[in-house]
Amino acid sequence: MGQSKRRRNGSADLARYAEIGHHAGIEVPSYGEPVCKAHAVLLVETSGDQQYSLGIRPPWASFQGDTETLSLGLFRSDYLMQNPDSNSIKQVEFNTVASSFGALSSYLRDMTRYILRQLGQAELLKNMPENRALSGLCSGITEAYDLFGVPGSVVLFVVEEVSYNICDQRFHEFEISEKRPDIMIYRRTLTEIYEEATLNDKKQLILDGHTVAVVYYRSGYEPAQYPTAKEWDARLRVERSTSIKCPSIHYQLAGTKKVQQALAAPGVLEKFMGAGAATGRVRDIFTGLYSLDFDESGERAVDMALADAERFVLKPQREGGGNNLYGADVREALLRMRHSRERAAYILMERILPPLVSGYVVRPGAAVPPPLTDLVSELGIFGVIIGTKDKIYCNRQAGHMLRTKLADANEGGVAAGLGALDSPFLLDM
Ligand code: ADP
Ligand code: MG
Repeated sequence: MGQSKRRRNGSADLARYAEIGHHAGIEVPSYGEPVCKAHAVLLVETSGDQQYSLGIRPPWASFQGDTETLSLGLFRSDYLMQNPDSNSIKQVEFNTVASSFGALSSYLRDMTRYILRQLGQAELLKNMPENRALSGLCSGITEAYDLFGVPGSVVLFVVEEVSYNICDQRFHEFEISEKRPDIMIYRRTLTEIYEEATLNDKKQLILDGHTVAVVYYRSGYEPAQYPTAKEWDARLRVERSTSIKCPSIHYQLAGTKKVQQALAAPGVLEKFMGAGAATGRVRDIFTGLYSLDFDESGERAVDMALADAERFVLKPQREGGGNNLYGADVREALLRMRHSRERAAYILMERILPPLVSGYVVRPGAAVPPPLTDLVSELGIFGVIIGTKDKIYCNRQAGHMLRTKLADANEGGVAAGLGALDSPFLLDM
């Protein structure tokens, strides 16, 4: 099938799977099709000759799914405090796939409490909020399992070939197994799913003779995790099945930077939340988010960024850290892409300037004792949601994660070695 035909069919079929973007209903003139931003994300990636650095590339010309199927979201919304207006927070991004550190952050609080007691500072413990992220996130999986309601069914964790985050990830399995010994958990890579999992005539996903109730992705969010067509086929097979996916493709798309930017556009939030005070409070956590489409506002955004690149971050549709551009690199990239379609695959975001705190970072191989350094912290709030297109079964907060990094590091990736996990200490201000 030719590229252009595949592109057109793919976008039509995916239309019903990107509800948030779809409701945004924005035309993307450069493709000549009335598609939403989320579709644009997919279209740019699949649009023929060039492969831009985007996150999802489903070659699913005939993707047919079932919008009645439940989706499970184990989300993490990340925030930085905004300086000098230091009592307000701004959203960095919204993670809808493989949101990590729920387990380590839950255990870290116990470690920090122990250290405070050892230091004779036990009176400070009351200022450290409880963190039940691990049990909260796992209860989402077991609740979805129960809603699936097929006796003897199993939970499938989709894992990477080599997982660098194994110490976080496996605790989810252990927690589920402790609380629900009746639930069998499988771990498989996408390649193994391609080889081993099948769809039966009821569209149930069958693995090792068992029906899969919940598919929980800790992989599948970056292009390298789909090295061949097999992994895409595996993802499509799962997506077509009746299993509850965490995330489903539409939840995953809702977590793209493009959708984050589309939601911040004037009037879009109101379509979902009405015009009440709550909508204003949500909007207050957005910082400036700009499309780089080929239209008047896109051109304005390019000019604005070129005039003062230090004020912005340039973001492609990628996850996992290390992909964004800052400062002089924003300028250089925009000059290079200004007249290329690649530009629309990025969004422009105002740079958040968090307040500095002094502290120590403990890391392997560093000086002992560590030097006192300027640090900034990023707070992640976990959430669990289960729902269909029409009905939400649960929607709750499920704990937190704090990452602290050197103030002069652009990104705070813990796995990348740039940040460290931390615990919040609450103060009355
Ligand atoms: P990823 O999906 O790769 O994690 P993020 O949007 O979370 O992408 O960006 C990675 C990191 O870059 C964040 O954790 C944060 O430290 C930094 N960052 C991202 N956006 C901004 C911003 N607008 N202002 C300041 N720092 C940012
Ligand atoms: Mg992030």
